Amino acid sequence: MHRVTLLPGDGIGPEITAATIVVLEAAGVELQWERFEAVGLAGMERYGRPLPEAVLDSIRMNRVALKGPITTPVGKGFRSVNVSLRQKLDLFANVRPCRKLPGLRTPFEDVDLVIFRENTEGLYSGIETYDERLEIADSTARITRRGSQRILRFAFEWARVNGRRHVTAVHKANVVKMSTGLFLKEAIAMASAYPDLDFDHRIVDNMAMQLVQRPAEYDCIVTTNLFGDILSDLCAGLVGGLGVVPGANIGDSVAVFEAVHGSAPDIAGQGTANPTALIRTAAMMLRHLGERTAAETIEAALRQAYVEGCWLTPDVGGSSTTMDFAHRLAERVASKQGEA
Ligand code: ATP
Repeated sequence: MHRVTLLPGDGIGPEITAATIVVLEAAGVELQWERFEAVGLAGMERYGRPLPEAVLDSIRMNRVALKGPITTPVGKGFRSVNVSLRQKLDLFANVRPCRKLPGLRTPFEDVDLVIFRENTEGLYSGIETYDERLEIADSTARITRRGSQRILRFAFEWARVNGRRHVTAVHKANVVKMSTGLFLKEAIAMASAYPDLDFDHRIVDNMAMQLVQRPAEYDCIVTTNLFGDILSDLCAGLVGGLGVVPGANIGDSVAVFEAVHGSAPDIAGQGTANPTALIRTAAMMLRHLGERTAAETIEAALRQAYVEGCWLTPDVGGSSTTMDFAHRLAERVASKQGEA
């Protein structure tokens, strides 16, 4: 029995979480959920704070959480709960595998990238001021040597353990010389400790262009917080969109699993959101929990569903609802588990 903190989130979060639980139940892993609904705006309304301390305590205790998206008000209101969680729990590594599902029609056939995004510092450090008199806004992109080293080490180790061959560090050290210059310097130093892996580095704007022209030439990409946020949405676009890309936030002692996408307010409540990203995210969580067979069963059932192309959601060309997709997938998962 694994005890896991569950944050369904808001927007499409509750819909895709319900769908993911249906699939996890079919996989037969014993999961005991500790569920928190009142986070983000709901947390503000009920407790006067977007991220109640009980949520952090639960994640620290259980060491693993599955999380839906939580809306952040634009330009005002409370600080992003997604960012606060990563900082308060020191979840320094954001891992986002972008691998095309067979059957999905996309511009490139063989994209298989993993993005490692530094998750706690950079332009998302939260060091921001506004001088009313001078009407000047400052946001500090703080990058530390320690923060750079640990995400770089994580990416190189992950690449080695998972049989990848190439790591690309992404920066803007030609212009933002101090902060991203430090990241680049540490990346070059770290690469020398991994002679078995090929290494190169790219300036972020060039990287963006290369990714839409020759994505198959890249393998593992490690970068700072803002660049990682942007490039991972770009890479999601290469492999079928935000509805299909999973993610994990990993720290030294806890891990929070969440899809790359946000709360998608434009389609919330319609029952048409694609739960694939969160289901793949849950499979990553199962691997982390040592439940490899169940993770592989879910991933195989997903691949089969996309190859057959039936009962998919509208974002990937189908017309199914979120829950129809989940129930059909759960049937496949249960029958594969039965065969095993
Ligand atoms: P944030 O900045 O909060 O991380 P985002 O930039 O990732 O958000 P989303 O809220 O995820 O943006 O939505 C961007 C677009 O992708 C929207 O048009 C939304 O409808 C679509 N989208 C996101 N997730 C899904 C999903 N699971 N299923 C279908 N469409 C989705």
